[in-house]
Amino acid sequence: MGEWPLWRLRPAALWYVLAVQLTAVASVAVVVAVTERPTAEQLHEFGLLAVTGGAVIVGTSLSIHLRDGIRRNPWTIHICYLVAGLLVLPPNLLVLLLLGPALHGVLDAREAPHRWMFINAATVLATFAARAVLGWESPHWSPWALVAAGATLLLTRAALVAAGLRLRSPRADKSDVLGDPIDVLLGIVAVSLGMLIAVAVEFRAASALLAAPPMALLDLAGQLPQWRRSAQRDGKTGLVNAMHWDKLARAELAKASSRGQDVTVLLLDLDHFKRVNDELGHLAGDAALASVALMLRGSVRKGDLVGRFGGEEFVVLLPEADTDAAGEVAHRIRRATASLSVPVRDTAGVQHRLDDLTISIGVAGTARLGYELGDLLVAADAALLEAKAAGRNAVTLA
Ligand code: GH3
Ligand code: MG
Ligand code: MG
Repeated sequence: MGEWPLWRLRPAALWYVLAVQLTAVASVAVVVAVTERPTAEQLHEFGLLAVTGGAVIVGTSLSIHLRDGIRRNPWTIHICYLVAGLLVLPPNLLVLLLLGPALHGVLDAREAPHRWMFINAATVLATFAARAVLGWESPHWSPWALVAAGATLLLTRAALVAAGLRLRSPRADKSDVLGDPIDVLLGIVAVSLGMLIAVAVEFRAASALLAAPPMALLDLAGQLPQWRRSAQRDGKTGLVNAMHWDKLARAELAKASSRGQDVTVLLLDLDHFKRVNDELGHLAGDAALASVALMLRGSVRKGDLVGRFGGEEFVVLLPEADTDAAGEVAHRIRRATASLSVPVRDTAGVQHRLDDLTISIGVAGTARLGYELGDLLVAADAALLEAKAAGRNAVTLA
């Protein structure tokens, strides 16, 4: 347990995570203690909701497993049956439904148990908050109560998780903290489907089973952000890949052209990178690429577009920057590369510090070359070749 990443959290994050988890456990204990025994009908409804949710999770997990895929947490399915439970079950059976996400985490043998335990605790608290909005003893089904409860569930869960992520890494990207915009839509669909299931269950309990196919489809849609990310990002460096960078860069140039603003493109190529691979191995080379990518992201402003162009080449598009300003950025990157010291292991497993990396950079701006991406890249490439010819570790303006 001493190895748990939980203990490596910053103190503020650790206290926050522990507070959320303790509050969740304490509220579960109180709810179980004060709620009366459920009726046979409520037990029947609970059974059908649990069986439907469980069957969908097992089914979708198996199908993903068979396709060798890596699945995201099936949170949309959990939200669906929890919302149905919120409306038709007494609080103690709702607590039993909440064991679903916890059980899933255990069976799935997640890499970071403290993370899913924290997310489960956030889900427990959000579910209780939503139930309180609906009416603790007997939920109101008025349209406003339903909307308010759905919003409470999603917003409380998202806020508790986002606060934890922000405390853990204060400098994290907004999208890493708040999730993908599509997650908001998925959450709303999950809540609505859960409410429809509740309506169907009130009419006839067995109709909960009809919800299995739409829940499975929703879970599939829940994997979309991950697929999109992997289609847009380069796996080794985490930067956007060349194709996606091209798309973003064209959009940025079109915007700048209509506003008459300067944009500058940098094309960067590591010097003598083949030697790193030849002397230390390709894994050491990969570690160097990842370090350079991290440094690049830290060296530019928020709206600047850093991409992996290919191999050991990178591209950066700087909106609202003329070539003078961009030249300064390029020199900053050149100096930062030269002062990198990357811990690597060679092919024999021996630790080294790679600290003689340098980079050459070609710079091309719209003021001289216009707003066609192709023209800018050709000019930046020619400037880059000049920088190489001039002895490398250099910046050349087109
Ligand atoms: P120059 O200063 O002229 O750019 O020399 P260079 O050695 O960097 O240039 P060259 O284009 O000959 O070699 C690029 C090297 O980058 C060769 C290739 O093995 C390496 N490389 C490209 N992509 C990767 C990668 O993903 N991982 C690793 N480890 N190496 C890569
Ligand atoms: Mg190259
Ligand atoms: Mg090179």
